[in-house]
Amino acid sequence: MLKDQDRIFTNLYGMHERTLKGAQARGHWDGTAGLIDKGRDWIIQTMKDSGLRGRGGAGFPTGLKWSFMPKESDGRPSYLVINADESEPGTCKDREIMRHDPHTLIEGALIASFAMQAHTCYIYLRGEYIREREALQAAIDECYDKGLLGRNAAGSGWDFDVFLHHGAGAYICGEETALIESLEGKKGMPRMKPPFPAGAGLYGCPTTVNNVESIAVVPTILRRGADWFAGFGRPNNAGTKLFAISGHVNNPCVVEEAMSISFEELIEKHCGGIRGGWDNLLAVIPGGSSVPCVRGENMRDAIMDFDYLRGELGSGLGTAAVIVMDKQTDIIKAIWRLAKFYKHESCGQCTPCREGTGWMMRVMDRLVKGEADLEEIDMLWDVTKQVEGHTICALGDAAAWPIQGLIRNFRDEIEDRIKAQKTGRKSAIAAE
Ligand code: SF4
Repeated sequence: MLKDQDRIFTNLYGMHERTLKGAQARGHWDGTAGLIDKGRDWIIQTMKDSGLRGRGGAGFPTGLKWSFMPKESDGRPSYLVINADESEPGTCKDREIMRHDPHTLIEGALIASFAMQAHTCYIYLRGEYIREREALQAAIDECYDKGLLGRNAAGSGWDFDVFLHHGAGAYICGEETALIESLEGKKGMPRMKPPFPAGAGLYGCPTTVNNVESIAVVPTILRRGADWFAGFGRPNNAGTKLFAISGHVNNPCVVEEAMSISFEELIEKHCGGIRGGWDNLLAVIPGGSSVPCVRGENMRDAIMDFDYLRGELGSGLGTAAVIVMDKQTDIIKAIWRLAKFYKHESCGQCTPCREGTGWMMRVMDRLVKGEADLEEIDMLWDVTKQVEGHTICALGDAAAWPIQGLIRNFRDEIEDRIKAQKTGRKSAIAAE
């Protein structure tokens, strides 16, 4: 289990002061100018060496992403945009940072922006996060008052401003290019890539979009060293990570742990075990609603990191939002609910997603009741494959993968329900 002295987020549960004074007492904003003084190359190299992979779901190496930003300006400004849209069902980790430990994020924003030669950072906040915005704005105001933001921020010689932007509640605005469009005042619709944001992002200028957690861990990594951070987790899966465990565990929680912790340890040490015991575990969605579910018996020994969950279990770590479902769950109905969500959130721009999400949801409607033919399971599988990888943004994949996970892991349940419906056997038919 991660030791307390190795935690980056020391006020995750709001037990201490979230003010600047409280944050400084916990070691934040300590020697920030000195870190900046070491220069852009040192910061980016340290982030590369730390092995930090983006915490927003895709797991792209953070230092490498920063290095794509232009070293010399061609006259255009550079921007850092922090993605605080956190709308993936099951995911509720960044909100804990923003409402209880906001200074970790603001200090990280200053250092990261300097490394990318950005004088301005926008934080794009999920529409529903009202209290989080208030906490973050209060922290930003404090920083301006004390000279940590604005001209010569924190005495670093770097002029730096942070602006909060409150979204209007569309899931798709968590996609980085849709977020940029929304920030520009347009409809939140993803852009075709290339060009990538590092070449032409916000207002056509070089932009990096990073997740809240990815930025909030930066100051501590720089202070304690790349080796310290890289010492947690398996190779290529370094660091500590916020896990958000919800569903049928005895004590759902958000907790910082070392990467590559086993699923069993995570659940037993922090969540008080599975409701009704391990034999009662049906399925787990290990990384937020868009990754495929895994059968309970395959999860117990699972290693919670990017490579294991994808390579060994055909799922993913995603945002590390772990959704646990016990045997009381109607798994077909649970996945149907996700299909309905993705259908609702599709921006409608590309045909496979616009038509496919609705088509998949309507088939799922019938599968929940067993009102389908057995051949339709394969047909549904085929449609998910036609949507996956054929759309402008990853929402198409996100809609396809949960259904693929269902068919791969629970085909027997789907077939059983269809047969039960045909024979009138009530026990296998979903309750209304
Ligand atoms: Fe819009 Fe869906 Fe296409 Fe993404 S995949 S651009 S959400 S229609």
